[in-house]
Amino acid sequence: MELIIDNLSKTYSNGIKALQNISLEIPTGMFGLLGPNGAGKSTFMRTLATLQEADNGTVFLGKIDVLQQKNELRQVLGYLPQQFGLYPKISAEFLLNHFAVLKGISNKNQRKELVDALLHKTNLYEVRTQKLSGFSGGMKQRFGIAQALLNNPKLLIVDEPTAGLDPVERNRFYNILSELGEQTVVILSTHIVDDVKELCTNMAIINKGRVSLKGNPLQLIDNLKNKVYQKTISKLELEDYKQNYQVISEKLFLGKPTIHILSDTNPRDGFVLVNAELEDVYFSQIFGNQSNLKSIA
Ligand code: ADP
Repeated sequence: MELIIDNLSKTYSNGIKALQNISLEIPTGMFGLLGPNGAGKSTFMRTLATLQEADNGTVFLGKIDVLQQKNELRQVLGYLPQQFGLYPKISAEFLLNHFAVLKGISNKNQRKELVDALLHKTNLYEVRTQKLSGFSGGMKQRFGIAQALLNNPKLLIVDEPTAGLDPVERNRFYNILSELGEQTVVILSTHIVDDVKELCTNMAIINKGRVSLKGNPLQLIDNLKNKVYQKTISKLELEDYKQNYQVISEKLFLGKPTIHILSDTNPRDGFVLVNAELEDVYFSQIFGNQSNLKSIA
């Protein structure tokens, strides 16, 4: 099963071009969609989930024409939106069972078996009788995944699932997702580079509604081999460096401002060559092409 997106575009009535000719081929497995806030990720996800219309383009999941055959798609779709409401006063088990009824699983024993299996899978079995109002952010997200898996989806869309989760909860969530990728097309939208690094075999970076880079994360990192240099500088020097080098990131390292630059040749000047990371790939796409940045390569 493959998801094939061709030339997908969407302009909102206020003139914002949220999607501009997006074309992607997404095989079974975990696919990471990285991009800054406002890049168009949610618009893209909602369109794939048949919740809003595109202006142009086609999307096929196997033989299903996603934009036309909405009901067919919904039968094989699992969707975890960025924000979702839960009934606070009832238990996880009760609500999951209720959703299973809504999804048409009418046999009571079969339903109980499925609900129990999903509660186990998402590590919620022990707390299944507790009210959802007492759930932490991570528990709510795991419940969201449990409901999204009720119909054994062929396409699972998760929009910014780890935002606001602590590292332990984020790891739990990763573990659940990584088990799914083998039979399902899983699209994970995020602005957290580590999410993609840990989980995804394929990825795309979208920025301002366009795909700016796509491929296998390790290959994309390899493309920057011997090109990323690091230097610790003082804050006052930052603007100078931005004028003279292609600065792709600036962050504090042990409390000191540290920059990464892209360069095909060794810039010397106190810079050291470092192993490229997925963050460098991402930042070079998002910040590396600004007009005030000059490449010395
Ligand atoms: P992301 O999920 O990457 O943060 P969005 O898809 O939410 O990006 O937004 C992409 C762009 O479209 C942003 O500039 C946003 O302000 C705009 N946008 C999103 N939804 C709407 C809407 N319903 N009407 C008008 N503009 C919108």
